[in-house]
Amino acid sequence: MTELPPLRDVIARHGLSASKALGQNFLFDAQLLGRIARIPGELAGAEVLEIGPGPGGLTRALLGAGAKVTAIERDRRCIPALDELGAAYPGQLSLIEGDALAIDPQPLFTGKPHITANLPYNVGTALLVGWLSAEWMPWWQSLTLMFQREVADRIVAAPGAGAYGRLAVLAQWRSSPRIAMPVHRSAFTPPPKVMSAVVHIVPNEAPAGVKLARLETLTAAAFGQRRKMLRQSLRAIPGALEALEAEGIDPTRRAETVSVAEFVAVARRLSG
Ligand code: SAM
Repeated sequence: MTELPPLRDVIARHGLSASKALGQNFLFDAQLLGRIARIPGELAGAEVLEIGPGPGGLTRALLGAGAKVTAIERDRRCIPALDELGAAYPGQLSLIEGDALAIDPQPLFTGKPHITANLPYNVGTALLVGWLSAEWMPWWQSLTLMFQREVADRIVAAPGAGAYGRLAVLAQWRSSPRIAMPVHRSAFTPPPKVMSAVVHIVPNEAPAGVKLARLETLTAAAFGQRRKMLRQSLRAIPGALEALEAEGIDPTRRAETVSVAEFVAVARRLSG
C-alpha cells in the first residue's frame, strides 16, 4: 500500500484552512472514506469523476481502490496537495482546476464514469439536476453524492411524504436513488449545522414516449401549488385535465399523492 502522510498534516503543511465561502467541510476518517468510495462497487480500473476533492481524503480512498480518477476542484490552494497525491499513484489521477458548474466533463472519458462528490449542497443539487437531465441513457454509470440529510430525503421521497416533490420525480422516473449511508455532522471538520447522507443513484431505461420537458412542466405546476387540487394547479397546461381523466386520476387529488408512474403516464399523453 502507498504510504501517505496523515490528511491533517497535509492540510497544515499546505495551509488549507476550511473556507466557508466554498462550503468546505472536510472528511478525515479513512474508514468512513473507504466505505463511501466503495458504494458504487468494484473500482479497480474504473473511471471515476470526483467533484470537489479538496485536500483529497475521498480521492485517496478512490485511488487506493484502484480507480482512475479525474477530479475537478475550484480552490487552487488544494492543487499542490492533490498533485502530491497524484504522484503517489502514477497515472491514476488527472486534476482540473475550475468550477464544476462551468465545465462539461463528458468528453474527458472514454467509457461511462462513476461520479462521486462531497459538495456544498447548492452546488451538489445544481449538478445533480444537470446529471439527471442528461441525454438518456446518461454518460455516467452511477452517482454517489453527499447531501445534507434534508436534500437526500427529498431525492428518495415516496408519495405522501412531506419531502415528496419535483426533485423526487426527477430522480426516480428513470433512475433508482437510495440513501446509501447516513453521515453524522461530527464526521466533518468543521462540523456543519445539520446531518448529512450519501445518496447512490443508478440509471434505468427511460419509460418510452415521455419528454423530460413535459414531465418538468407538469411537476412544476403540480408542486408549485401543492396544497391545491390537480384540477386547479394543472388548469393552465393544455391537455393536462384530459390526460388526468384518460389515466383515471381523480382531479381532486393533490400533487403529493400522485405517484411517479402516474406523473409519467400523464406526461406521456402530453408528449406527442
Ligand atoms: N472531498 C473533500 C472531503 O470530502 O473532505 C472536500 C469536501 S468539501 C465539502 C467541498 C469541496 O468542493 C471543497 O474542496 C470546495 O473547494 C469544492 N468546491 C466547491 N464548489 C465547487 C465547484 N463549483 N466546483 C468544484 N469544486 C467545488
